[in-house]
Amino acid sequence: MVDFSLTKQQQELVEKYKDFAERVIIPVRAKYDESSEFPWEVIKKAYDEGLMNSQIPKKLGGEGLNIFDSQLGSEELGAACAGICISIDANMLALTPWIIAADDEQLKRFMGRLNEEKGTAAYALTEPNAGSDVAGIKTTAIKKGDKYIINGHKRFITNGEGAMYHTVFALTDPERGARSLTCFVVPTDLPGVEILPRLDKMGQRGSVQNEIKYNDVEIPVENLIGREGEGFLIGMKTFDRTRTGVAALSIGIARSAYEISRDWAKNRIQFGKPVTANQAVSFMLAEMATKIELARLITWKAAWYFEQGLKTPGTYSAMAKYYASDVAMEVTTDAVQVMGGDGYTRSFGVEKMMRDAKLCQIYEGTNQVQKLVISKGILR
Ligand SMILES: Cc1cc2nc3c(=O)[nH]c(=O)nc-3n(C[C@H](O)[C@H](O)[C@H](O)COP(=O)(O)OP(=O)(O)OC[C@H]3O[C@@H](n4cnc5c(N)ncnc54)[C@H](O)[C@@H]3O)c2cc1C
Repeated sequence: MVDFSLTKQQQELVEKYKDFAERVIIPVRAKYDESSEFPWEVIKKAYDEGLMNSQIPKKLGGEGLNIFDSQLGSEELGAACAGICISIDANMLALTPWIIAADDEQLKRFMGRLNEEKGTAAYALTEPNAGSDVAGIKTTAIKKGDKYIINGHKRFITNGEGAMYHTVFALTDPERGARSLTCFVVPTDLPGVEILPRLDKMGQRGSVQNEIKYNDVEIPVENLIGREGEGFLIGMKTFDRTRTGVAALSIGIARSAYEISRDWAKNRIQFGKPVTANQAVSFMLAEMATKIELARLITWKAAWYFEQGLKTPGTYSAMAKYYASDVAMEVTTDAVQVMGGDGYTRSFGVEKMMRDAKLCQIYEGTNQVQKLVISKGILR
C-alpha cells in the first residue's frame, strides 16, 4: 500500500522548521530582501537550534537527516524566505561532496572547525566560461610535493564571502581536461583567496553570491576529496542529492504565494461579491493548488528513491527540480495576478516570491539542463 502520511517524527520535524521560520526568519526577511546582506543572525540561531548541516551525521554535529526528511525542512524554510533558506541549504550543498567522498579524518577535521565557529561553506563549481557546461572548467590544482597549488576564477558562488571553506572543483591535469576534474576543500583564510564584491540580483536577496579568484593558493594534499579525476562524478552526484531540496524550496515559495492570494481573494469584494465568486479567479486558484500538490508528489518520490537505494534517483531529482521550480514561477505569477494591484506592491510579499521563484529555474543547473539529465536517464 502506498502511504503519503508523515511519521510522528517527521511531523515534529516539520513543526520545528515551521516554528523557526515564523520566529526567526519571517520577522527579518524584508530587511534582507532590501539590504542583500548575508543573514548571519539567522545562521547562528540555526546552528543553536540544530537546523544547520541537516544531512551531516549527528556525531559530526549535523542533524543526521536523510534526503526525504531534509527536503521537508527546505519546504518550510522556503515558504518563509527563499533567500535565507538558500543561505542555509547552500551550506549543505558545499558539504554534500564531503558526505559522498571525504574520509572520516577529513570529515572530523572540517566539521569540527565549522561547528566550533558556527561557520559557513560554499560550493565553487561554476566559472565565467563553465556554467551549464561543467566540462569547460579551467581552474587548475597542480600537485607540488605535499601541496596542490590552485589557480582559477569561480563565479556566482553562494555563501562565497564569509565562508570558512570552499569546496572547489579544479583540474589536476589541464591536458586531460574534465577527466582530471577533482574536488578539494580550500580554507578561505589562506593567502591568495580573493573574494570579489557580492553580486546584485533580482531575488533571493537573503543570500549572497561572489566571484572568487584563487591566486596560487597552496592547500595540503590532505584536502583532496575522493581521488584525482573523480570531481565530475562527485559534482553530479552532489546535484542528484541536492536538487530535491531546490524542488522543496520551490514548493514552499509556491505554497506561501498561493495561500496569501487565496485568503486575500476570499475577502476582496468587487461587483458586490468576493472575487473568488468568479470562475476566472477560482479556477486560477484551483490550478495553483493542483500544481503544488503535483510538485510535492514528484519531489517526495524523488527523495524516496534515494532512501530505497535505487539506481536512477538523479533522473527523478532532475524531474522534481524542473517541475517544482516551473510551478513556483507559474503560481507566484498567478498569485500576483489574483491580487491585482495589491499583488504588485511590496505590502503582501507575493512580488518578492515571484522574484525569488525565478532563480529556482536557474541554479543547480537550469531547467533546460534538467531536461538533458532526464532525457539521458530515460533513454539510457
Ligand atoms: C544566484 C545564483 C546562485 C548560484 N549559486 C551557485 C553556487 O553556489 N555554486 C556554483 O558553483 N554555481 C552557482 N550558480 C551558478 C548556476 O548553477 C549557473 O548559473 C547555472 O548552472 C547556469 O549557468 P550559466 O549562468 O553560465 O548559464 P549558461 O550555461 O550560459 O546558459 C545560458 C542559457 O543557455 C541554456 N543552455 C546552455 N546549454 C544548453 C544545452 N546544452 N541545451 C539547452 N540549453 C542550454 C541554459 O539553459 C540557459 O538558458 C549560481 C547562479 C546564480 C544565478
